[in-house]
Amino acid sequence: RVLRAFVRPWLIDGQEIHVTASLGIALSTDDSTPESLLRDSDTAMYRAKELGRGRIEMFDHTLSTKASQRLSISSALHHALARNELSVHYQPVVDLATREMVSVEALLRWKSASLGEVAPADLIPVAEETGLIVPIGAWLLEEASRQLVEWQQLQTALDHAGLLSLAVNLSVRQMLVPDITDRIARVLARSGMRSTDLCLELTESVFMQDADYFGRTLNELKALGVSLAIDDFGTGYSSLSYLQRFPFDTIKIDKSFVRPDQKGTRPVILRSIVSLAHDLGMDVVAEGAETESDAVELSQLGCEYAQGYAFGPPMTALEARKLVGAATTEAA
Ligand code: C2E
Ligand code: MG
Ligand code: MG
Repeated sequence: RVLRAFVRPWLIDGQEIHVTASLGIALSTDDSTPESLLRDSDTAMYRAKELGRGRIEMFDHTLSTKASQRLSISSALHHALARNELSVHYQPVVDLATREMVSVEALLRWKSASLGEVAPADLIPVAEETGLIVPIGAWLLEEASRQLVEWQQLQTALDHAGLLSLAVNLSVRQMLVPDITDRIARVLARSGMRSTDLCLELTESVFMQDADYFGRTLNELKALGVSLAIDDFGTGYSSLSYLQRFPFDTIKIDKSFVRPDQKGTRPVILRSIVSLAHDLGMDVVAEGAETESDAVELSQLGCEYAQGYAFGPPMTALEARKLVGAATTEAA
């Protein structure tokens, strides 16, 4: 009944306002206290929000372990920046035609003093929920763009044709910062990096947000000169019409479509995504290219670029620098 009461829009100043409610329910047991009931129903409510809002979730104890894990990640993450626990790894993206490294993707790494190494899959959602992704993402862009400029200088010194570019993941939470474009522009100005050498990767979750706001922000970013990629394409909510509506340059096909299935054949969807992207004038990067035969087949399918263990895992800046130097010497 509570949920149903929210279905009807509210009329405020002649405007129809739609509100959804996320409900969490906890049942009392013999050892429940008012505090534990409130805490558990709150946990269940967050689960309901996570699963798409406007729904009801019951509390169960697996939620409570998850919630306490998140809590310890969140409290340790608050100090991660100040304690220098964060670092950036770089993974090569290669041009499949020439096998040359054309770009690197910057990936966040965290070695916490109390929790050890925390995987991005566990840390990014918490960073987004708490808003910490905003300062962390700003730090990462600052660090990675400074690093890229250094590598480009090395390439120039070695007379390398074509300079490396940089891909950085941008979460929805960062897109919601009202002056995100200016902030990115200031970071680039400080590091001396050209905006045209930066590609921002966004997941399909942006499509679930306010389309007008995101469309405007994406256009501002494009006007700055950066390029835009859809990350993990095919795993989220993708209304294909958005591909045309928003100014994306590149589709990164998720690794789940790239790897052969149990029958040893590559999913048919892969071929279709590649031609869809090309028909829309977009480039394709295949993620999770793990073997040489992946690379060969992807190239035959018309993929321009690939990223994956076949060309190198995410690595430290020091390791990546060796690749930059080596590739350059080879070409020269
Ligand atoms: P992503 O942006 O799709 O990054 C690619 C992920 O695939 C990385 O996982 C990388 O280690 C992994 N990978 C690369 N090659 C292969 C391969 O050949 N096979 C397989 N199985 N996996 C491969 P990672 O580093 O654990 O990052 C996971 C996700 O966390 C990223 O997915 C990205 O969505 C997010 N993330 C990482 N760093 C940042 C960041 O600085 N900001 C934001 N907003 N998100 C980040
Ligand atoms: Mg990415
Ligand atoms: Mg991806």
